[in-house]
Amino acid sequence: MRCSEYLFATLKENPSDAEVISHQLMLRAGMIRKLAAGIYNYLPLGLRSLRKVEQIVREEMNRAGALELLMPMVVPADLWQESGRWQEYGKELLRFKDRKEGEFCLGPTHEEVITDVVRRDVRSYRQLPLNLYQIQTKFRDEIRPRFGLMRGREFIMKDAYSFDLDQDGADRAYEKMYQAYRRIFQRCGLKFRAVEADTGAIGGTSSHEFMVLAESGEDAIVSCSQCDYAANVEKAELKITGESTPPPMAELAKVLTPARKTIEEVAEFLGLETGRLVKTLIVETDTGEVLAVLLRGDRDLNTVKLTRLLGCAWVEMAGEETVVRMTGAPSGFAGPVGLKLKIFADCEVALLADFVTGANEKDVHFTGVNLGRDVQVDTFADLRQAEAGDPCPRCHGSLEIWRGIEVGHVFKLGTKYSKALGATVLDDQGGERPLIMGCYGIGVGRTLAAAIEQNHDQHGIIFPMAIAPFQIMVTLVNPKDSQVVEAGEVLYRELRELGVEVLLDDRDERPGSKFKDADLVGIPLRMTIGARNLEQRQVELQERRSGERELLPLAGAAAEAAARIRSALKAME
Ligand code: ATP
Ligand code: MG
Repeated sequence: MRCSEYLFATLKENPSDAEVISHQLMLRAGMIRKLAAGIYNYLPLGLRSLRKVEQIVREEMNRAGALELLMPMVVPADLWQESGRWQEYGKELLRFKDRKEGEFCLGPTHEEVITDVVRRDVRSYRQLPLNLYQIQTKFRDEIRPRFGLMRGREFIMKDAYSFDLDQDGADRAYEKMYQAYRRIFQRCGLKFRAVEADTGAIGGTSSHEFMVLAESGEDAIVSCSQCDYAANVEKAELKITGESTPPPMAELAKVLTPARKTIEEVAEFLGLETGRLVKTLIVETDTGEVLAVLLRGDRDLNTVKLTRLLGCAWVEMAGEETVVRMTGAPSGFAGPVGLKLKIFADCEVALLADFVTGANEKDVHFTGVNLGRDVQVDTFADLRQAEAGDPCPRCHGSLEIWRGIEVGHVFKLGTKYSKALGATVLDDQGGERPLIMGCYGIGVGRTLAAAIEQNHDQHGIIFPMAIAPFQIMVTLVNPKDSQVVEAGEVLYRELRELGVEVLLDDRDERPGSKFKDADLVGIPLRMTIGARNLEQRQVELQERRSGERELLPLAGAAAEAAARIRSALKAME
């Protein structure tokens, strides 16, 4: 490709609505353009990288024995009604009607459709195991689309689904995908960790998320400093340390705490550490149930753990009106003493005596509160959010906290969809058995964005070779100089003949601005052809990542560059 004939659309200024670096750089490098919130055009340069990520994913899926198919993006509602998700799925599911009033949705994920495909054509255990995948556009009407391709509404996903007769087979399918994912992200040049993840309402046995470590990540993950335990914070189990409940020493007493509502304000006012207070959260579930949750004052509620414990779809903090109705006081003064709600408490609360809580009265708190004597807890459970320094649940190490971007997710589904949709096969005894399924997703655009989060400097993107839009950029310092043009054309042809993906910068612009663009776009190698070096029959080769430059003899320069590209690709395998 020649820049002069290419849509080379770099921007000098940082776009004001781009918060994270990958979004900024993809806009500035002319890879993507926003059409509507969370909906993007992929410009030619961006599409080249995206296709490379797709191709790596495709090769590894094929290597693992999965078969590619393509399902429609538009999905009839009845399939989703069969699984029950038409009701369960929130507003992320974009529903609409066709001209005949038939109901449809845009597929955010394809468990229903694939289960339907398989129930029609797979009847015998002899056709198993089976793993089917597609690389396709998904739509989720995300509440907060942001960060460019990282959290779009329309995005490209690879989704694979495995079908097995028994659990052993399903476990093997999962393991194969797990290994394929490791290879995929490694080949994309990413630093990542596979972490244990919450299995949500499906309640399956196993799920791992592949997290790319990056400051901008929306997920928090914990990992042990000593063993290989790693989990999403949503899921991180906590080891309960400490002895049994100490005996009560103090009497229950009311204290005035005028206008002190937050834990910090009350603690400071009473001259106590926040860990000596117990906060009472009034929580509402999707089914309209209202309950109270007790946590040590210095801890945060993990809503995913609570949701799982309750077996509901979601929980949220009750609004002010509900708090007043249930406690008789404005928020900030709720407490468990005399409260007519079901009370759930984090296990750590059981280790406290003589603590402070709200008194369900404006500007009043209780001191000397004790479990058993003053408060009856219905259920104790691990409900708090993990924090850095918490003890590892598996060994004697302690937990560290990282930010991560979820680029892939593998999940043991069990028989949820095969039972709901009646996808069964005959086993060797002639009995009907529901298929055991797994599902495996990778965000293609998000993976590309995550790679840029990890590979950039102040000048722009530094593409890992395997996903770079072009492998080398040949810059003509002065495209009006006929010798420069001639040498450039020869190199350009030689490189292409060697199978190298080359972009020739033949634009008639200042060399400085061409070099700036080259740095911004982040093509891994750059060859510069200038009149002065040509006199010595030499060209300059520069590596984008290290910035190191060297002079190569013009003859043989193309072969040398091709060899370096091959070895860079090999190193990523
Ligand atoms: P998240 O928790 O980030 O919303 P998810 O867990 O809902 O993602 P999955 O259903 O596991 O996503 O989808 C599989 C993969 O698809 C994710 O690991 C991610 O890489 C990608 N993905 C999901 N949602 C988006 C999105 N809105 N934009 C881009 N990629 C996405
Ligand atoms: Mg996920």
